Amino acid sequence: MANCIFCQIVSGNIPSKKLFEDDKVMALLDIYPANPGHILLIPKEHYTFASEVPSDLFAHMGVISQRMSHILVTNLKAAGTTMIVQSGQDAGQKAPHFIMHIIPRAENDELNLAVPTNNIDKDDIDELYGKLRPLIAQTFPGQNLEEIEEGEAGSEEEGEEGEEDEGEDEAEEGEEDEEHEDKPDELLDKIEGLI
Ligand SMILES: [Zn+2]
Repeated sequence: MANCIFCQIVSGNIPSKKLFEDDKVMALLDIYPANPGHILLIPKEHYTFASEVPSDLFAHMGVISQRMSHILVTNLKAAGTTMIVQSGQDAGQKAPHFIMHIIPRAENDELNLAVPTNNIDKDDIDELYGKLRPLIAQTFPGQNLEEIEEGEAGSEEEGEEGEEDEGEDEAEEGEEDEEHEDKPDELLDKIEGLI
């Protein structure tokens, strides 16, 4: 894409602090970093949104991001890393080229990248859960929760996690609240029975 600064960097028309390159991706040291050591990982092909990036390329970028993060923590002594994808202008995406950001963090660095936790109406959560779960099941045929749970029904080896999933199922089906109130005790009994 002619007027994309990152495509210009990939083609070598604009200089950059290139850290890594293979046939598919390039990693750059950000010269306008959120924190010193901020790495930008980009595909060499021009894609704008996360959904446009081919799955195998996205997975490849994920693995490289993970290794970059490890280097920042172990070798640059970062206290941690924040790894961000901003897909869409309203999500904070500034360039038209897809970027994975790997940002080293320091204790009390005061970067405002925390994800807030908000209380929303329980009915809204149930409604969203009811919408999302079948949509996601369609995307992963043969791997959706209903099939997995049916396959494991009666197994006592699944332990605490399996029991919790069962509780969530009942929440989705909108059963009476009084049944939910019984749930923690039932769960504890079942879990104790497994130990
Ligand atoms: Zn581009």
